[in-house]
Amino acid sequence: MLLVSEPVLGVPEKAALSKVIDSGWLTMGERVRAFEEAFAAMHGADDCVAVNSCTAALHLILHGLGIGPGDEVLVPSLTFVATVNAVLYVGATPVFVDIESEDVPLMSVKDAEARCTPRTRAVILVHFAGYLAHKEEWQAFASVRGLYIVEDAAHAPGLKEVGTFGAGAAFSFYGNKNMTTAEGGAVISRDPELLETIRQARGHGMTTGTRQRLNSRTPQYDVTMLGFNYRMDEMRAAIGLVQLRNLQEWNDVRRILVALYRRLIATRCPDISMPFSEPRTSAYHIMPILLPRYVNRQDVIDEMRAQGIQTTIHYSPVHQMTLYRERCPGVHLPRTEDFACRELTIPLHPQITSPVVEAVVDALASALTKSARAGAAA
Ligand SMILES: *Cc1c(COP(=O)(O)O)cnc(C)c1O
Repeated sequence: MLLVSEPVLGVPEKAALSKVIDSGWLTMGERVRAFEEAFAAMHGADDCVAVNSCTAALHLILHGLGIGPGDEVLVPSLTFVATVNAVLYVGATPVFVDIESEDVPLMSVKDAEARCTPRTRAVILVHFAGYLAHKEEWQAFASVRGLYIVEDAAHAPGLKEVGTFGAGAAFSFYGNKNMTTAEGGAVISRDPELLETIRQARGHGMTTGTRQRLNSRTPQYDVTMLGFNYRMDEMRAAIGLVQLRNLQEWNDVRRILVALYRRLIATRCPDISMPFSEPRTSAYHIMPILLPRYVNRQDVIDEMRAQGIQTTIHYSPVHQMTLYRERCPGVHLPRTEDFACRELTIPLHPQITSPVVEAVVDALASALTKSARAGAAA
């Protein structure tokens, strides 16, 4: 089965893991620190905080900004549920915002403006599929209203612009992301004070870590805030250091594969539309396509599967999940809902080759023809 995404793992990751085991120091040691320094440097930032997931990273940013009950946070619905869950973790209220268009399925500035109230404190931007939101537009939007910008950068690691939009950016190193540590995440912020608060909140709100106490005369520590256990361990950091060395090259391969997909789909499946038709900075995390209205998506998914090709959907809108229909009733986002009904994500990862891209597009073309024929017969 050709998978939608697949991690690249090999001998260097195994070697890095065995070194950690041999060292006898398993968590929050020098590898975590080295990973933080390398990850920050790649993004042109002075520092970052490694954590155990992007979800934790989002939670820590909102917590560090002091966002809480009574506050509203603008969020997209076309995202993974974790983006929105983080808002509930701090007791604030998520306010769902529609996408711009089917060609630009990123949060609409115009719709965001319409949904602002005196209680709005922040906006969480998701660089959907790896394509960056429009920085100047959002900074103008946020600065006149005094709002924080938080980036959910789970899809966009390795881009210099990420983490420069506003308060901070949250990254994911989950197994299906552009680079992985199995589970893992990081926060980049240009605000050193916020980053220090986040660093402390990551480890129970303690004033020193285990490693620091080893190197210090006094074994004492204090707890000056209610923190969490969102620590990264040495095994993950060791894998992350290896993965990070390949990230730019992998993102380049993704870019080349996307260009090939675009060319082939445009000629062989002209009824399929592809978002982000205009050039835009991207980490090319996934390859989303929009099926024509005349086909049944499930037929296409089944036919692709029969040909050994996995496809997925990004995303079922968060506002339509049972939890959020209960918590935030009556939300209607017509452009998000229409996009989500027709979207299909086809395989994209650095181990895919050109002939495989050709095979996927040919399979798509025949799946469309079959589904259209079945529709006509019915
Ligand atoms: C994967 C993902 C997350 C969650 O990442 P974890 O590291 O699994 O917590 C959050 N937001 C988006 C957009 C994602 O794709």
